[in-house]
Amino acid sequence: MKYILYARKSSEDKSKQILSLESQVGEMKKMAANLGLDIDLVYTESKSAKLPNNRPVFLEMVKFLESTPEDYGIICWKIDRLSRNPIDSGKIQWLLQQGRIKAIQTSDRQYLPSDNVLLLNIEGSMANQYILDLSKNVKRGIQTKIEKGLWPNFAPIGYLNDGKGGIAVDRVRARYIKKIFKLYSTGNYTMKELANQMFKEGFRSRSNIKYHKSKIYKLLKDSFYCGTMQFHGKEYEGKHETLITRKLFSDCQKVMELRLHPKKKQPFFHFRGLMSCEKCGCLLTACRKKKKYVYYYCTNGRGGCSEHDHYLKEDEVIKTLGNVFDRLLVNEDEVEMMYHNTKELLINNNPERHEYLEARNDLLSEIKRQENRKDELFNLLLDKSITKESYKAKESVIKTEIKCFKEALEKLEDEQEVVLTESTLELTKEFFLSPKKMKKAFFKVSLDDKRKMLSKILWNSTIDNKKLAKVSFKEPFETLANCCVNSDIDKLRRVRDAIRTEMRQNPNQFK
Ligand SMILES: [Zn+2]
Repeated sequence: MKYILYARKSSEDKSKQILSLESQVGEMKKMAANLGLDIDLVYTESKSAKLPNNRPVFLEMVKFLESTPEDYGIICWKIDRLSRNPIDSGKIQWLLQQGRIKAIQTSDRQYLPSDNVLLLNIEGSMANQYILDLSKNVKRGIQTKIEKGLWPNFAPIGYLNDGKGGIAVDRVRARYIKKIFKLYSTGNYTMKELANQMFKEGFRSRSNIKYHKSKIYKLLKDSFYCGTMQFHGKEYEGKHETLITRKLFSDCQKVMELRLHPKKKQPFFHFRGLMSCEKCGCLLTACRKKKKYVYYYCTNGRGGCSEHDHYLKEDEVIKTLGNVFDRLLVNEDEVEMMYHNTKELLINNNPERHEYLEARNDLLSEIKRQENRKDELFNLLLDKSITKESYKAKESVIKTEIKCFKEALEKLEDEQEVVLTESTLELTKEFFLSPKKMKKAFFKVSLDDKRKMLSKILWNSTIDNKKLAKVSFKEPFETLANCCVNSDIDKLRRVRDAIRTEMRQNPNQFK
């Protein structure tokens, strides 16, 4: 096999890295001698290889190689001497594949017909430029399309490319897509559960396999379904038919956000939120040390608070907060006395009381009677003695009556506001005595129950130098705390009124 030596240097090749023509020829000859290669012909030219068909000597060499019956290889210094554009590279590649060139030897490697790497090995920028220009034109076309609201890619699942450059709804799969979004938005499904559920219901990919959770995830993230196309980091309004609403899409994103990044659970401290710093007003927060001991302290949110250094152990907090009940303690003898006095007052000095009680009892028993009627009616329905329709009609009549009686009762009680009934008197007495019981219980119950007890009666308390300072109670305890107890009926009445108000607004508190 003989070799052709090809050397090239154009005036553009300013880099000192590129040898002069003479040097290239000299180097190649040395190398050929070393490798024992037989140089038959030498071609040299001073032309750029950036444009195709721009080199007469190169073209002559190609012509020669195409026509000669003998086996030839090429020797050149670097592969970019032979070609720097894809057209000329293609020619060389073709000659190699045809066996017209048996081998290409450069200073650093050898290319053989079996190598399919010539094109990839073109050094220099020309080939890249070609490719870039080509893709730029393609990109320009894509850009125009997307700006017109048309999707320039393969249609997402649930849609089909209509073959005319548009997107059509895939009627078979669209209903599954809608369902996936709908179910996910409930927050009751994981991606995996959705994938399984949809598979059961017959949802398949275009290659007819299960749509797995990773793909479900991608699908749920794709705003294409609600009309917004995401393309290279930008959003475009699509003209295609939407499958879901924007609201549903954004609901799903919220669910996903919550599921993927669940809010970090704050460690729970039982008495946090119940105490603030008397000096600066900041809430006391807590921390756990050595994984065991809980300390409460002023967060010093406003800076420079002296309380900041006072760390309260949980035990100390319990002791301190236990003192809250002391603010509600009353003299029991006085309460007893007040109770008896008031009861006598009720019985002796209240001529309207009988009338009131009678009216009240009438109303209560009427309400009870109506409620029994309702039960009986329901039993008739269960026995199928009446139809559902007639049950409903009758039930609504009874309900209206009950409502009327209840309103009348309320009105009656309101009118009797000034009159202490015995039941509220009992309740009031019990209430007066309850803080003492509560305090006793407080130290016995669990941390959870301690917190429950406190939050039932407390809005907040302040701590000063590890001691209880101010306490703000919830009603009716605030009224109790504010009234110094004596046998004065007005004081009692105030507490009773507070209890009544609370009973109306928050009846469960007294159960
Ligand atoms: Zn403070």
